[in-house]
Amino acid sequence: MAEPEVVPPTGPLGPATALRTDHCGALTIVDADRRVSLCGWVARRREHGEHLAFVDLRDHTGVVQCVVDGASELRAEWVVRITGTVRRRPEGAGNLAIATGEVEVGDAVVEVLSAAEPPPFSLDERGPSTDEAIRLKHRYVDLRRERMQRNLRLRSAVNAAIRRAMDAQGFLEVETPMLMASTPEGARDFLVPSRLKPGSFYALPQSPQLFKQLSMVGGVDRYYQIARCMRDEDLRADRQLEFTQLDAEMSFGGQEDVLQAISHAVRLATAAAGRDLGAIGRISWHDAQERYGSDKPDVRFGMELVELTPLFASTGFNAFRAPCVKAIAVPGGASLGRGRTDALTDLAKGFGAKGLAWLKRHTEAAEGLEGPILKFLSEEERAGLPGEPGDLLLFVADERAVVNKVLGLLRLELGRPPVNEGGLHAVWVVDFPLFDGVDDAGRPMAAHHPFTMPHLEDLDRLEDDPLAVRSQAYDLVLNGWELGSGSVRIHRGDVQQRVFRLLGIGAEEAEQKFGFLLAAFRYGAPPHAGFAFGIDRLVALLAGEENIREVIAFPKTQSGTAPLTGAPAPVAARDLEIYGLRPLPPPI
Ligand code: ASP
Repeated sequence: MAEPEVVPPTGPLGPATALRTDHCGALTIVDADRRVSLCGWVARRREHGEHLAFVDLRDHTGVVQCVVDGASELRAEWVVRITGTVRRRPEGAGNLAIATGEVEVGDAVVEVLSAAEPPPFSLDERGPSTDEAIRLKHRYVDLRRERMQRNLRLRSAVNAAIRRAMDAQGFLEVETPMLMASTPEGARDFLVPSRLKPGSFYALPQSPQLFKQLSMVGGVDRYYQIARCMRDEDLRADRQLEFTQLDAEMSFGGQEDVLQAISHAVRLATAAAGRDLGAIGRISWHDAQERYGSDKPDVRFGMELVELTPLFASTGFNAFRAPCVKAIAVPGGASLGRGRTDALTDLAKGFGAKGLAWLKRHTEAAEGLEGPILKFLSEEERAGLPGEPGDLLLFVADERAVVNKVLGLLRLELGRPPVNEGGLHAVWVVDFPLFDGVDDAGRPMAAHHPFTMPHLEDLDRLEDDPLAVRSQAYDLVLNGWELGSGSVRIHRGDVQQRVFRLLGIGAEEAEQKFGFLLAAFRYGAPPHAGFAFGIDRLVALLAGEENIREVIAFPKTQSGTAPLTGAPAPVAARDLEIYGLRPLPPPI
């Protein structure tokens, strides 16, 4: 007879196992009088009389106090199994700070499963924070901390919600290769030498971009993948050499379809984290620059840039005779001292301004203004200035792009709330320009990647006025972090050739680099569009973490190393030979 299928009782914490009946963090007064077996690490141990010891036992769900007889051999971080009876703690001995604080496990016996060396740092969340390099070297210890466990669980819940959302919308999960040819995302590739073809290299994917487009030609219709991407670029708080994206692509749809599908996934992921996203806003790239001085506006707070160019059109104040004059009003800034305004001027110069002018507004009336530039302004100009009583007005006059950039950065510096304050405010930034300025050779540079479809209305201007051409590209921005970007793709060979030509990619180079894609397009390419957003960034924002390393199980340091494994490490010359490689002498 066939064995009956045993379905383990699953709860949010998982089923009981051979060694344990319960989880440490889940015990409550409801469990009183139950005999339980718990497994975990010794978080703390305190003597109580000659034989008795209080042992705080920790697993991934939390900590519970156990009262153990004859536990003298127990040390911090030993792995043990404790069996005992749940009981209410004696009057006055409760601990409201922990979820299990009302109970303890009494009459407990301990079985040591693994002894442990003293931990390299204290795991007490309240203790002084440990140097990150040490945390990363012993990440397996660091991950036991409550905060890291919470972040890992959050990330898992977010991934699961994203998968559910994409699945429910008819997207097919397709895995794309890691060993592949270069994808142009604007970063440097990581290369992997081929042993079978010495002297040749694979590139690790900067994204699955080309493959997801190929899968559209392959009739997949809607593709998604929680994809690992590798980009060899300088690291920052929100950037790692390898990161994870929700990558998606859909056929026979346009921008609105993509925005809707992705918004749904982000909304479900946010809900899975127990957070509320609210309505996702929308702003054009142009307006984002004008109002926030950024293509990734943090809309959690106001302090928008105020247009003053018309007000100063015929000004007598030399410093304001410029193509563009704008200001921001900093709430409460009127109380800042001279040292602080001087520091802001230095900061503005560091951001690229020639200078920074300021005025304090004490009252609504023009007479309520104060500051060194006031005497240069006409009555009409004074009357037209913005701000509320108590504000500090900061002015920049320059080329429009410089003004927007500098005031945008000052706005963040002076108004940006900490990552875990101000709620979650997402906004779609649409109508990006197709090109991002010109390179040293005067050639336009792709703002997104070279497969981005221009706005059809702007197609005629492609050759004559490329910098004015808008693209069908869009970004999703959450609390001022660029979560991700996407676009409608070029599926027509003729338009693709024109864009390649403008980018200085000749027919031969195009053939060599993307010949396979262009060939695929000749065999019937559906119109398609897609998007990708960074899961590390989303989870960091949902967790209230400033740094994505806190939500990655095994991240690299800021300098791209892995203290735990020692990667990257040199390879012996003889091991390189099989790849047809020989090392250069080390740089002097
Ligand atoms: N491949 C792009 C990126 O990684 C996203 C996209 O265009 O779908 O940014």
